[in-house]
This record gives sequence, structure tokens and C-alpha cells, in this order.
Amino acid sequence: MVNEDLPPTTKRISILGATGSIGKSASDVILAGGEAFSVEVVTADRNAVALAETARALGANCAVVADPAAEPALAEALAGSGIEASAGREALIEAAARPVDITLAAIVGAAGLAPTLAAIEAGSDIALANKECLVSAGALFVAAAEKAGVKLLPVDSEHNAIFQVLDSRDPNSVEKIVLTASGGPFRTWSLEDMARATPKDAVAHPNWSMGQKISVDSSTLLNKGLEVIEAHYLFDLAPDQIEVLVHPQSIVHGLVAYRDGSVLAQMSAPDMRVPIANCLWWPERKSAPHKSLDIAEVASLTFERPDTERFPALTLARDALERGGFATNILNAANEIAVEAFLNSQIGYLEIVPVIAEALGRAESAGFRAAPESLGDALVMDDEGRRLAREAVTSRSGRQSTAGAG
Ligand code: NAD
Ligand code: MG
Repeated sequence: MVNEDLPPTTKRISILGATGSIGKSASDVILAGGEAFSVEVVTADRNAVALAETARALGANCAVVADPAAEPALAEALAGSGIEASAGREALIEAAARPVDITLAAIVGAAGLAPTLAAIEAGSDIALANKECLVSAGALFVAAAEKAGVKLLPVDSEHNAIFQVLDSRDPNSVEKIVLTASGGPFRTWSLEDMARATPKDAVAHPNWSMGQKISVDSSTLLNKGLEVIEAHYLFDLAPDQIEVLVHPQSIVHGLVAYRDGSVLAQMSAPDMRVPIANCLWWPERKSAPHKSLDIAEVASLTFERPDTERFPALTLARDALERGGFATNILNAANEIAVEAFLNSQIGYLEIVPVIAEALGRAESAGFRAAPESLGDALVMDDEGRRLAREAVTSRSGRQSTAGAG
């Protein structure tokens, strides 16, 4: 419930996906903010103990686990705290719709769509980490935010960089933007070595410590592909105005090239607390915990064009963006399945992209053409993308075991 006794400057915050990598970084920022923030809702998938710890540390009013089986553990871990506990998808969506000033959308994957949309429709500004919302149903989310009169503040470091340096008074002044990519753990690997890459290799990101799914996405560069789509919807730019450059030091996160020749960039140490603090404090800038940047120590900043032969995911994502909202939806769903299959050792590393491409091809042959017009549409399409990708995985793992048997 909204606490009427809070000082008027206190921002009420809900965190969807509070136990994840982004959720933990946000907790640091909120705790350092003291009285400036008060936490309404925290949610997690099923880790009740971690969620209860976070809820207690942040003094949240309510904690929700998506998995109903985790409810008893959550109730037990919160006993005596006075913090409400509930469980299940419906409870999560209801909690996301509680009135707050800002909701941090940090659930991973398409599971974040319904709760994030509920928060938007309830009139909460959104600090958006879950890029999958915009990839799955970008037009729908942008329209919903406009209708509700809420702001979508980008947490993704590249988009937050663009948000900080974009002069929103005159959108026509922008020639193009550049999103930087670290290049991931396989930046210098040969295709031959990549074919043998293990899940452990793929999640070992050189600069950022992140959840498993986005770490694999960074290694394939599909993460950057998803980010091109995300940028298209956030900043209303044409696909050819969104460039990607590999920048292994991860210091410059995004650049805006203006038509008059000036290029403005944002720099910071690779630390997600920086963009999170920017969103949670926005429009103010206040001190927040962060790794500091010693530019003399970094000494040199390098930029190179991505190698689309070794990293075809980037081209696949751009093609999907050209084909429209159904294709980006299927791309996202199929990627979630392909990444999971790779992490479970069902397919090899270099099969992730072909599995997604196969699902996209089959969806197009099945007559998918229109972008989702409602959340229901988006979720049905997402289910179909998953089904098609699972079929592609099964046919490949079948092939693998037949080959192995021979
Ligand atoms: P993570 O895996 O560390 O955490 C995910 C959170 O979502 C956890 O709290 C988990 O309990 C919850 N969750 C997972 N499945 C769920 C489900 N089915 N229902 C409800 N809750 C569920 O992921 P992360 O790295 O923190 O990433 C979160 C989001 O932020 C992703 O969309 C990612 O692309 C984006 N993002 C992350 C980073 C980063 O540095 N980690 C950077 C930019 C963007
Ligand atoms: Mg990013």
C-alpha cells in the first residue's frame, strides 16, 4: 500500500526481477539513496530465500514469487517481517499494477511482458531493463506508454547512454546513433574454436557480470541485434540510422552523431549501477555507488566494425527488424529456446543462430506477417516461436546423436 507518511520527495519503486543481476545492482543504488526511495514490490521467479532477503533489506511492502510452489518457502522466510507474501503469475501481475512512481522491469525474457505492461497501464514510469518487451512487441509497448503518459527510461547501458546525450528537442538533428558492443568472450576466436565453445566459455563475459541468458546473447552478438531493435522503438530511428561498433574496453556505451558534425558520447566504467541510478534518480543526478572511471588508466579506446561472418546473429536481427513485428517476436522467442538448448548441451554453440533462422523461416512459411496488436497476440506468437524453435532443436539433437551412434 502507498505510505501517506512518506516525505513528498520519496520515490516509490517496484522491482520486477529483484533477485537477478540487474535487481541486485538496483538494490545497491536504492540502499545508497536512503530516504529518497521506498520500495513497494519485489518479485522473483522461484528463489524465495533470496527474494525474502532482498525484501527485508529494502524494507519492501510486498514480495511475490512467480512459481506457486515457492509460496510456502517465501511465507516462512518472511515470517514476522510484516511483508506481504504471494505467489503465481496472476499475483505477480497484480503486484506489478500497484501504484508507484517507477517500476524497474528486470525480469529476463518474454516472461517480463505481462507484468511490465501491467505497470505501464497502471501509470508507473518504467526503468526498462527487459529489452525483450520491445523486441517481442515494441509498437505495442510504445503505444501503451504513450497512452498511459508514462516514460520508458532505458536501463540498457547503450540506450541509457543515447538517452543521456540525445537532444530530444529536435529529433531531426540526429544523423545516426552508435551502440557499442564489447565483442563478448569470442571476439578473437576462430569459427573452428567457436564450434567447440561450451556454456562455461559463453557466459564468461570479459567486462560485465550479467545473468546467463544475456551473457550468451552477448557472446553471439544477438544481444546487440536485440538492442538495435530496442533502439528503433525507444528513439524512433530508422534501422539504417542505428550502427553497431565493437569497442572491447566497454567504456563508451553509446554515441549520437548530429547532422552538424558533432558526435556526443557517454562514458562510464562498465557497471550497471550507473545507468540504473540514472533512471531511478531521473531527472536528477545524485551520487550513487559505482566503479569509478580512470580514463588515463584505460589509456586507449578502440572501435572496430563487427565481423558478421563469425557473428551472423546481428544480420539476422536486422533482417527481422526489416520484416516487421512478427519477425522480431519470433526471433526473441526462438532465441530464448536456442540459448536454453545450448546451455543444456542439446545443441552446439554454432547451432544457436541456425535454430533461430529456421524458426523464423517456418513462421514466415506458416503465414505469419502482422505485428502483434495485443499482449494476447504477442504471447500466442511467442508460444509459436518457441514451438518452432523446439522442433528445430529436436531435429538437430536427433542428427547429432545419429552422427554420434555412427
Ligand atoms: P537474471 O537472470 O540475473 O535475473 C532475472 C530475474 O528475473 C530474476 O529475478 C528472476 O527470478 C526473474 N525471473 C526469471 N524468470 C522469470 C519468470 N518466468 N517469471 C518471473 N520472474 C522471472 O537476468 P539479468 O541479467 O538481471 O537481466 C534482466 C533483464 O535485464 C534482461 O531482460 C536483460 O536482457 C536485461 N539487461 C541486463 C543487463 C545486465 O547487465 N545484467 C544489462 C542490460 C539489460
Ligand atoms: Mg546492453
